[in-house]
Amino acid sequence: MDFKLINTEDTVSRLLNLLREARERVILISPYVTLGAEDRVGRSIREALARKVKVTLVYREDDQTTPKENWLAAMKPHVDAGLKLYAVPGLHAKLYLSESTVIITSLNLLASSFLNSIEVGLWSTDPEALKQAQAFIEKEIKPHVRAPSPAAQPSRPAPAESKARTRAPRKQQDGGYCLRCGDSIPLNPSRPYCREDFAEWAEWENVDYEDNYCHGCGDDHPATMAKPLCRDCYRKAVS
Ligand SMILES: [Zn+2]
Ligand SMILES: [Zn+2]
Repeated sequence: MDFKLINTEDTVSRLLNLLREARERVILISPYVTLGAEDRVGRSIREALARKVKVTLVYREDDQTTPKENWLAAMKPHVDAGLKLYAVPGLHAKLYLSESTVIITSLNLLASSFLNSIEVGLWSTDPEALKQAQAFIEKEIKPHVRAPSPAAQPSRPAPAESKARTRAPRKQQDGGYCLRCGDSIPLNPSRPYCREDFAEWAEWENVDYEDNYCHGCGDDHPATMAKPLCRDCYRKAVS
């Protein structure tokens, strides 16, 4: 495999180029993140999303490490524009991947790292390197992803509005609800997403990814593919 060793400045500029040149998809894996809103990284993310590039940002979230609430809030416009945010406990790997470029580096998406740290990276456009980076993500990252903190969730209708929307069709006896968007769909606990959200879920296929609504009643609930029903609906289903 062909890799080029790069220093801090090169890592930063090649990372920005990776975002600017991406045509299909970008996966940014950075445990610690303060950048991505109104800075160079954020602008490049926004431009990529505007070009219909699928951009995913994976960061660390666990007992020791949670991202700053104001960062999550600042990322929300990107999330509404299509950025996928995923949290992974214990994450320490830093890896940036597009369909054509991979960077494996010590560099986090932190303002302080961009300015003050001494970083090192490996940069490659070798197809074999891309393939192995993708395989690493499939095997080591995807099985551990969780939904991000509520502050970073895409905008939802206000509670009153959402209740009105989900309560109205509840009369239909066989009606179910999409775990992610709350839309009315056929009741089928093995297919608890609408078509669009299922396609999105299937990209990462994480059965423990916590979404927003109970499939059975449409109430707010951290439902997952593995457990799509709230306790009440589950009890009703098994009794
Ligand atoms: Zn949906
Ligand atoms: Zn329920």
